[in-house]
Amino acid sequence: MKLLLKRDSSDLHATPYTAEVILETGAKINIERANVDAMGATLIVDVPNDKVEQVAEHFKRKGVEVRRLMKLIAWDEERCIHCGACIAVCPAGVFSFNQSWAIAVEESKCIRCDVCVKACPLSALASVEGL
Ligand code: SF4
Ligand code: SF4
Repeated sequence: MKLLLKRDSSDLHATPYTAEVILETGAKINIERANVDAMGATLIVDVPNDKVEQVAEHFKRKGVEVRRLMKLIAWDEERCIHCGACIAVCPAGVFSFNQSWAIAVEESKCIRCDVCVKACPLSALASVEGL
């Protein structure tokens, strides 16, 4: 499962919180996306399903805001014209053509880079934040 982690800039560089949580929980946490600026840090991490509760709890104890990303990308099938532009730009291989040359979506692969959202000529794609 993917988690969205947010932390403000107050002690961002003082504490390697992701490394600490990996050591504390033994979870293999994969950082899929990280944005760090003067305001703080936002990360999307992939956590094994059996460790999600434990990992989320450890991050929360360190003052990190944790959200589960239940849905990563919204695809409006009604708008889609199956042009394939999203297949060309997606770095994670989320989109493909099925045997009928219609778009198939494997959402679990999404790293939420938003490239496809900007590339879709019909605005059929949008990024969605989970709970
Ligand atoms: S880029 Fe948009 S319109 Fe084209 S196949 Fe992908 S979702 Fe459909
Ligand atoms: S947000 Fe990025 S990884 Fe996710 S489907 Fe769009 S292009 Fe692919």
